[in-house]
Amino acid sequence: MGKIKIIKGDITTLDCDAIVNAANSSLLGGGGVDGAIHWAAGPELLAECRTLHGCRTGEAKITKGYKLPAKFVIHTVGPVYFEHKPAEAEALLTSCYENSLTLAKENGLKTIAFPLISAGVYGYPQRDAIKLAVETMKLHQDDFDEMTLVLFGEREFGFAKEEYSEFIQE
Ligand code: ADP
Repeated sequence: MGKIKIIKGDITTLDCDAIVNAANSSLLGGGGVDGAIHWAAGPELLAECRTLHGCRTGEAKITKGYKLPAKFVIHTVGPVYFEHKPAEAEALLTSCYENSLTLAKENGLKTIAFPLISAGVYGYPQRDAIKLAVETMKLHQDDFDEMTLVLFGEREFGFAKEEYSEFIQE
């Protein structure tokens, strides 16, 4: 059974098979983690993203990682929290994790890192987003060597320490 880790840090520095990008539906870059990933990967990432013709909310698409330490980037589009009923937002966010993990499996990838999808500008409540991320990762532990949830802020990391101390790596 693979390992689940929760760390605080910058996902663009991680050397794993794939990092997941919380993209927007254009796949043409944005702010937050999306901007950081494009900045670190270099312009070739945007060029490949242009060939993908966008991505629907809850779905995922894969590209190479270019200048990133990670070999691949899996781009998924989280729900904008207040555009949906809570149950619908939850189902869409679950699809982001599920579809990202499925793509990773289809490509033979064994180590993957997620940011806290939708929990920045898209407004998903952070505690709920952490729970959804970890509980979904747990369902796929047999298929991966390592799954990492990368939290960027002290606040989110504090929530994770309260709920999931067993997975925290400082
Ligand atoms: P969304 O639009 O899906 O809400 P954001 O990029 O605004 O996406 O935020 C998603 C999460 O990613 C937030 O918790 C934000 O703090 C975090 N984040 C921003 N930059 C980075 C980074 N370099 N590495 C990891 N997480 C990041």
